[in-house]
Amino acid sequence: MLELAHLPVVDVHCHPFRNRGPVTAEQFTDLTAFGGGSREYMEAGGVVVTDDVHAELQRITRDTLYFRRMLRDLAAFFGCEPDLATIVTHRNRAVTEDYTGYVRRLYADAGLTTLIADFGMPLPMLDVDTVQSELPVEVVPIFRIEPLIADLLKLNIGWSEFRQRYDDEIADALQHRGYKGVKSIIAYRTGLDISPLSRTPDQGYQALDAIRRGLGGGSMKKLRDHLLCRALELCMAHDVPMQIHTGMGDFEVNLVYCRPAYLMDLLRFPAYRGCRVLLVHTGYPYHGEAAYMANVLPRVYCDVSEGIPFAGHAARRIFSEVLEMAPISKVVYGSDGYTLPEINYTSAKLAKQALGQVLTDLVTDHMLSEAEAQEAAGLILAGNARALYQLA
Ligand SMILES: [Zn+2]
Repeated sequence: MLELAHLPVVDVHCHPFRNRGPVTAEQFTDLTAFGGGSREYMEAGGVVVTDDVHAELQRITRDTLYFRRMLRDLAAFFGCEPDLATIVTHRNRAVTEDYTGYVRRLYADAGLTTLIADFGMPLPMLDVDTVQSELPVEVVPIFRIEPLIADLLKLNIGWSEFRQRYDDEIADALQHRGYKGVKSIIAYRTGLDISPLSRTPDQGYQALDAIRRGLGGGSMKKLRDHLLCRALELCMAHDVPMQIHTGMGDFEVNLVYCRPAYLMDLLRFPAYRGCRVLLVHTGYPYHGEAAYMANVLPRVYCDVSEGIPFAGHAARRIFSEVLEMAPISKVVYGSDGYTLPEINYTSAKLAKQALGQVLTDLVTDHMLSEAEAQEAAGLILAGNARALYQLA
């Protein structure tokens, strides 16, 4: 078995979090639940969560393989039984003594050195410097366009000002506020079936006008499609990658129009082929589509986050199937971790195990030499992400 424990890890897609101090076992379960299956997340979205429903959400989370695996990783880390109450006691003690020191030990155990974090979730946005000050690893912020679009829609402004502010805000984040890339969750809103012709000059103007007059008729989709195309252009102008959410996600995702294949027309269009695009979550469970696109489109990359860790033992299959078509240099590791540092930790541990197994199989099958497999591990876990984001 290829040994990857010593390798550094860049988490290419996750979300920023603050020190929440000690938590109860119930809160720990809530905060690490997948897909917005927590009381806090649902209530923030205006969903009423009764105590009965909450008890059910708790049970569902604790019954996932991902959660069971996380308990095992943490039990090994603390040298205790893989029992939720015991683990929470240990982590609370560590967090109370020295939060940053605890995260340092945790992340050193997994080799985590860098978190590339989408600051568009949670909302209101966390302050980048404050998040960085609590974490013992490099934090690289990514700018999400949807909160900006929501803010601009609340203003009583016409299209020319809307367009100008949209451009200015993204440019300012990239040039002056340390953001290293742009992100869109349009798959949560109006779907990935975006015509490359959405950038025609009139589309934004007409769509905003129709929204203002309450006409509907797909005007919100037209506006979002137009602005996504503009974001691709801005990424090219500023030489940063664009992350696009593909595949499964929180319960609000448009599960029909989230398939990477819907992006094919847009990303092969000559005007956008120059943009480096990271297909976040590799479109899981449609990861074969994303891997194919990473093969035929020279600037498209696959990020295995969310499938790893939340699809549990799919981690091995995801790496194996993505590497069928995606070139080694186009596959990047990510976790989609949020809220607590333990998610990023267990994800990195799981990814190293799964990638080690897959690369060992590839050596056995004469697809790679042992040296090539070792090099591929370094690239997938960190090197590709560092090159993509031009990190020192
Ligand atoms: Zn995410």
